[in-house]
Amino acid sequence: MPLTLTSAPPAGEPPADEALADTPLVGDALADGVPSGLAPARARRPAAKPPRHLADLPMAGRRAAIAELGQPPFRASQLSRHFFGRYTDQADEMSDLPRDARDPLTQALLPRLLTAERELSCDDGSTRKTLWRTFDGALVESVLMRYPDRVTMCVSSQAGCGMACPFCATGQAGLTRNLSTAEIVAQVVAGARLLADGTVPGGPGRVSNIVFMGMGEPLANYANVLAAVRRLTDPVPEGMGISQRSVTVSTVGLVPAIARLAAERLSVTLAVSLHAPDDELRDTLVPVNRRWKVSEVLDAAWSYAAATGRRISIEYALIRDINDQAWRADLLGSLLAGRLVHVNLIPLNPTPGSKWTASRPAAQREFVRRLEAHGVPVTVRDTRGREIDGACGQLAASAR
Ligand code: SAH
Repeated sequence: MPLTLTSAPPAGEPPADEALADTPLVGDALADGVPSGLAPARARRPAAKPPRHLADLPMAGRRAAIAELGQPPFRASQLSRHFFGRYTDQADEMSDLPRDARDPLTQALLPRLLTAERELSCDDGSTRKTLWRTFDGALVESVLMRYPDRVTMCVSSQAGCGMACPFCATGQAGLTRNLSTAEIVAQVVAGARLLADGTVPGGPGRVSNIVFMGMGEPLANYANVLAAVRRLTDPVPEGMGISQRSVTVSTVGLVPAIARLAAERLSVTLAVSLHAPDDELRDTLVPVNRRWKVSEVLDAAWSYAAATGRRISIEYALIRDINDQAWRADLLGSLLAGRLVHVNLIPLNPTPGSKWTASRPAAQREFVRRLEAHGVPVTVRDTRGREIDGACGQLAASAR
C-alpha cells in the first residue's frame, strides 16, 4: 500500500471547497425527466464527509489551516512539497520539519483517506488496478497503465454512479457518494509513488496522463472534480504539475456542466460517452439521454471544442447487434464529419450476468471503415486490464 499514515479526523474548519455538495445544476436536471433510479441514493442518506486533507484546499487555505495549529504558514508549502512532489504523507520522511511539528501537521492535513483493499496487476506488472476502501467503507477503483511513452492513471470521481447505464458494472449498483477532491487526488499520488519507487516495471517514472474514466460521473461531482483537476495540474507545491492537456474528463453528457467546464478555459480534453447516434437507442444505453438528446450533447461538445481548441473524444462501446450496425456507423459519421473530433471505439467488456457482448470482428472492422469514409478519425481502444476486471466498476462489483 503506497500511502500509510496515522490518521485523526481533524477538528476545526470544514473544507474550503464545496466538498460533497452536488452541483445544483446537475441535481435540478436529474429531477426532471430522468428515470427515478438515477438519483435515489442522495436522497436516502446524507453523504459522509471525509476528513479534511491538504489536497482539498488551495494554498491560502492550507496556510490558514496551519496557522490555526500555531505553526508558521510557510509550513504549508513544505508539507505540500512532500505530498505533491515526493508523494509522501509520512511524518518520519519529513526531515525539513521540526520533529515536534511533524505529527501534528501530518495528522491535521494529511489524514489517511484511502486504504488499499486489493491490488491486481497484469501485462507483466505494467497495468495495476487498486481497489480502495474509503474512511466510511465505500469502495472505489483506480488503474495505472504504463505504456512505452506514457503512464496513464484512470481515476474514480464517485463511489458508485447514478447514471444507470445498463452495460456498465458501476451503473448497476447506483451512487454511494461523491468523492472529495483529496480522495480523487490521492488515487493519483498513490500511483505516482509506485512509479517513483520503481515498483512498476520499466524503472522509475512519472504519471503523465489522467483519465476520469473510473467509477462515477465526473460532471455530477463538478466542484470536487474541478478542484482535483486544478490540484493535479497546478505546479508543485500547489499541485502535482501534470499538464492540463494530458487530463481527460469523460461524461455521459450533462449538458449544463459541459458548458460550465468550457467556461473554465482549461486545456483538458472532454470525452463524451455517446454509444449510440440516435436518441431511440441512446435513451436506453445512456438513460440521461432522456433529459439531454444526442443533438444537444453534441452541440455542447462542439462549443467546448470551440472554447478550448481541444479535440473532442467520442467514446463508443461496440455492443454486438445492439449499436454496431453499418447504418449506425454511417449516421455517427454524418453527425461527426468535419468536426474537431476523434472516435474511440471500445469493444464491450461484458459485465457479469449481462446478455450483451462485444461486436464480431467483421462488424467492428466495417464500423471503423464507415467512420473513416466520413473522414472521422477513429481508433479501437486496447483492452488493457481486461483480465483484472479492468472495465468500469467490475472489481468493486466482484468485491461486493
Ligand atoms: N461516467 C463517465 C466516466 C466513467 S466510464 C462516462 O460515462 O463517460 C468510462 C467509459 O467506459 C465510458 O465511456 C463508459 O460508457 C465506458 N464503459 C462502461 N462500462 C463499459 C463496459 N462494460 N465495456 C466497455 N466500456 C464501458
